[in-house]
Amino acid sequence: MVVQKFGGTSVADPAAIRRLIEIVRTARLRDGRGPAVVVSAMSGVTDALLGVAAAAGSSRGDDALSRVEQLRERHLAAARDLVPGTQHGTVVSDIGDSFDQHTAVVRALGVLREVSPRTLDVVAAMGELLSSRLVTAALVEAGLPAEWVDARHAIVTNDDHTRAAPLLRETTAALRASVLPAIDAGQIPVLGGFVGATAEGHTTTLGRGGSDYSGALVGAGIDAREIQIWTDVDGMLSADPRVIAQPRLVPRLSFLEAAELAYFGAKVLHPSTILPAVERDIPVRILNSMRPEGTGTLITARPSLDGTPLTGLASKRDVTVIDITSSRMLMAYGFLRRVFEVFERFRTAVDVVTTSEVSVSVTVDDRRYVEAITEALSEFAEVSTESEMALLCAVGDRLRDEPEIAARVVSVLEEVPLRMISQAASRRNITVVLRQSDLPHAMQRLHQEFFK
Ligand code: ASP
Ligand code: MG
Repeated sequence: MVVQKFGGTSVADPAAIRRLIEIVRTARLRDGRGPAVVVSAMSGVTDALLGVAAAAGSSRGDDALSRVEQLRERHLAAARDLVPGTQHGTVVSDIGDSFDQHTAVVRALGVLREVSPRTLDVVAAMGELLSSRLVTAALVEAGLPAEWVDARHAIVTNDDHTRAAPLLRETTAALRASVLPAIDAGQIPVLGGFVGATAEGHTTTLGRGGSDYSGALVGAGIDAREIQIWTDVDGMLSADPRVIAQPRLVPRLSFLEAAELAYFGAKVLHPSTILPAVERDIPVRILNSMRPEGTGTLITARPSLDGTPLTGLASKRDVTVIDITSSRMLMAYGFLRRVFEVFERFRTAVDVVTTSEVSVSVTVDDRRYVEAITEALSEFAEVSTESEMALLCAVGDRLRDEPEIAARVVSVLEEVPLRMISQAASRRNITVVLRQSDLPHAMQRLHQEFFK
């Protein structure tokens, strides 16, 4: 059986929810049971709710209440469209009750003029609690035996409000008690993503984008065959479509490859959110709900070494290179500690590091403290900086065992001036630092060589 998680754009409006219904129906016909369904809030709703809380807390109460009314109308309009029949009365009164409670909370915030993280979670969780009820009713209306499961009874978290961490043992037990019985009874359990509760019953949320996390937790908790993340793109791409006119769809990649690519902003999903699934060896498939016939991208724990030599390219712009040179470094120890202590002091993350005997070059993408850092480093080294640089990163598990691939990467880029080259211990990625103006050309060369 599969878990199907639908993102905000896949439940954005009645047309999207109708596509969802057919996707669920297809999975049920194929497997004869399930699926378990996890949904995000309708697109834009979480942002709107957080805006409501902020407005209410800063005494713009009327503004907050009028935004709440807009949200109420959006959900009711979808319910009128999708659920005209037997479920209509129930879903309309559910939505109405939720919004009445919500309005009360917003008024209270206006009086208190203070929004605690705990209250913020109560407000933010509304989006998924509503969308999941709406989707449940729409599935039932379409003849599918859906059953709403309250995520607050299924995902148990700590009390780190607004980015709570799930407690795995408790969550597994709770999922087995809430989701599995529904499946065994032939139902389609539907729950809101992103939302959980502490053991004491306080509502929590898992952090922005947390519905993917919920999808993975549900999949791991009930030991699903596959977790499907339905979104609005075909899957992971071999390169940034803003740089490469026709990137290829990556059919399959390992979890660690996905992690390397995600760091560089291949933002289809955040790999840490699917860790619960990967640890249990459950494959995760990214699919496009606008084009459900596609095969998507499959992410698995283990590498597949039979694909293209590289799996994908990624890049990062607006990077600054800092060169730190000191003749005192020759044969000395403690130099790198002094260097990195400066970056730590200014809370600036370093991305790529290369060293020679007398110099260290690092890249940072947070420019805020570059001047202060330069000044501090100048106390014991010569420092120069260069901005408008970029990172270009080639990722592939095969880089580990086939050294000729790295050689090919560098030789394809022979006429591009490379400032730094780095291949770290994972050997699953080779990163070059180059001028930003050279990035499109360099990326095209690599893409042509490895993906055409
Ligand atoms: N609705 C939440 C957000 O926008 C969670 C999610 O969609 O993944 O962050
Ligand atoms: Mg998302």
